Amino acid sequence: MHLTGTILVGPDWELDEIWIADGVIHTSAPESAGEFEKISGVVVPGLVDVHSHIGIGADGPTSVERAEEQAILDRNVGTLLIRDAGSAIDNSWVQEREDLPRLVRAGQHIARPKRYIRNFARELEDVNDLPEVVAQEARRGDGWVKLVGDWIDRSLGADADLTPLWPVDVLTDAVAAAHENGARMTIHAFARETIDDVLAAGVDGVEHGTGMSDDHMAEFAARGIHVTVTALQTELFKDFVGQAGAKYPVYAARMLAMYEGRTDFWGRMVDADVPLLMGSDAGSTLDQGTLPRELAACVELGIPAERVLAAATWAGREYLGADGVEDGASADVVVYETDPRADITVTRAPRAVILRGTRVV
Ligand SMILES: [Zn+2]
Repeated sequence: MHLTGTILVGPDWELDEIWIADGVIHTSAPESAGEFEKISGVVVPGLVDVHSHIGIGADGPTSVERAEEQAILDRNVGTLLIRDAGSAIDNSWVQEREDLPRLVRAGQHIARPKRYIRNFARELEDVNDLPEVVAQEARRGDGWVKLVGDWIDRSLGADADLTPLWPVDVLTDAVAAAHENGARMTIHAFARETIDDVLAAGVDGVEHGTGMSDDHMAEFAARGIHVTVTALQTELFKDFVGQAGAKYPVYAARMLAMYEGRTDFWGRMVDADVPLLMGSDAGSTLDQGTLPRELAACVELGIPAERVLAAATWAGREYLGADGVEDGASADVVVYETDPRADITVTRAPRAVILRGTRVV
């Protein structure tokens, strides 16, 4: 293939053309040039979704067939690199399939009984088991462990609220266990209190992060701790408020405040320069293939489209240790009609999706 137009390689770095042969990118015309399929447009490195659950459906673990469908739904919108943020099935077979997106696995979520969505996570009766279980999941995954950091504690009755799942000393040992086993830890955190523990324990990344204070933001920016935005998930907070209703008023009030404050909140995150990642959180209530909707939702929250696109392409790929557009790199690219930095919604309908040098859309 011969791709022409604007090839977005990185910030302030563009090429006019690239070639694809033998599955890899060539920045100059390959010697054995025969007939090349010509595609023109705005080319970006394959999209990265750092929070998609291949193998989780609304009720928990999916069949292998459904997990395959999920991976294809993601692929067909240009998501060519996925960090699964916890899966309820062994999805390592995805990595053997040339036609499915690249997958970086995080093992299975770790939570406590009644402190997360049912049937998703490994649930620990004894919090002191956390470091050992983190070590096990670190060895199962591809360099990531996913922890549930907070959830509503319904045992508190009318006082039920979001509370952290793990004592901070246990969490600290668990982070050390992840690191000793070659993994980084990312943690689901809605509540402000959880973020204090994240910083104390040295957790590597945060999913959602909706409760962060200005001090937290400054600290995250200084330490380079990334936060996965999950704008579509934040939209669902209003449903959580409805479900909690009069039964859990404290929790409902907190979720409502985070929902209503979301635009102001993400504006402060941007101003503080917290490094952001893009995640659709597909695979439970949300369906796969929704990353373009997520990117548009992030722009609607006020995150500049340049930052959204960077996080969804070169910056996100670099974060996971994957190549971007460079000579000899696997040809995983997406072609759009127009520049997604000018209008992010163009990502909903890619002109071409090329995975490992094969055009799949
Ligand atoms: Zn998730």
